[in-house]
Amino acid sequence: MNYPYPTRREFIRKSAQTAALLALPNFLYSAGPTHESPKLGVALLGLGNYATNQLAPSFAHTRHCRLAGIVTGSPEKADSWKKRYQIPDNNIYDYDNFDSIKDNPDIDVVYVVTPNALHLPFAARAARAGKHVICEKPMEISVGRCRQMIEACEKAGVKLQIGYRLQYDPFHQELKRLGTEQIYGKVKVIHSAFSFYGINSDNWRFTDPKLSGGGPLMDVGIYCIQGARYATGEEPMAITAQGYKSIPEKLPGMEETICWQMEFPGGAVANCTSSYVAHDNHIRVSAEKGAYGLYPAFTYGTLAGYVNDQSMGEHSHHQQAAQMDAFALNITQDTPVVASGEEGMRDMKYIEAIYEAARTGERVELPG
Ligand code: NAD
Repeated sequence: MNYPYPTRREFIRKSAQTAALLALPNFLYSAGPTHESPKLGVALLGLGNYATNQLAPSFAHTRHCRLAGIVTGSPEKADSWKKRYQIPDNNIYDYDNFDSIKDNPDIDVVYVVTPNALHLPFAARAARAGKHVICEKPMEISVGRCRQMIEACEKAGVKLQIGYRLQYDPFHQELKRLGTEQIYGKVKVIHSAFSFYGINSDNWRFTDPKLSGGGPLMDVGIYCIQGARYATGEEPMAITAQGYKSIPEKLPGMEETICWQMEFPGGAVANCTSSYVAHDNHIRVSAEKGAYGLYPAFTYGTLAGYVNDQSMGEHSHHQQAAQMDAFALNITQDTPVVASGEEGMRDMKYIEAIYEAARTGERVELPG
């Protein structure tokens, strides 16, 4: 059977075109800067695992922004980052003197990469200093705190992006297109899981619910929520959920494994799982006339896709570079941010509903 779908080679060519579009060349904008425009300066705040191993190296692939500064509580890290990335002394801040970043014209954006419950205070301080803000996912640990972050950025007149790198990945954009354009008919069922095995008692994620706000749902399950939302192009109207624990002494105040179902107004249902004691990483979309998906779906490295029995190929996109470049262009062109604060707050609303459904055993209906 022939599917109206590109061959692997065509898909890769199309992906390259999409990737090029993501970093839209400046000459496409009459009011925009020229190719020679200086790159925006980004300061990374919180030099932990993600900032060190993913974000900092990704600046090697950005076209519209550069690593210009750091904010860290650790003098040793300041020293090694300074040498490694040639960061000038006056672009290095600690958490106490950070507010003086307002006087530094070399920094345009502060990228908050701390534990979840510290996103709001640091994002608000960056906004008050007049800097645009990128905030890692999950945006915060409650809808109320997400709203405060949006208000702080609005009040300061700065833009806010949430670190949803996959919104800028060609495979995920294709998932969205297939569903919203109903290429295989209406989406009916989605299965998605993002889980990893590896409870580490030295890390706040697994030990401190005040900082994490929850377990794997907050950390990685959020990608399944995102995927189901953009695969349908709709917002869920009701949620059911079940939480499980097999090692009661671990993960205080948070779930170990959680399964949840989201009902969408167009008739689709998404069945999702997230866990800290299992390994999985996929999304499968079943529509009226076909099924397609990504496996692996959510990691940084190589992603692979399929439609029915045909491969969409695999590719490794510079997700973080695409995300940061898109934000830089949003700033210089004054265009809307795709992975906006509202987008992050919507996911938090669904996370709160999932936890409520798991706790009560009730089906939680969401006002439209
Ligand atoms: P991490 O623990 O490795 O790093 C956190 C950093 O925050 C550290 O440098 C730490 O020193 C600093 N920090 C500042 N104040 C702190 C405090 N009071 N307690 C603890 N640490 C404090 O964590 P990470 O894995 O880098 O995650 C950081 C953020 O990035 C989280 O919100 C996480 O969800 C997000 N993240 C996103 C992705 C992605 O793919 N978008 C991937 C990993 C992590």
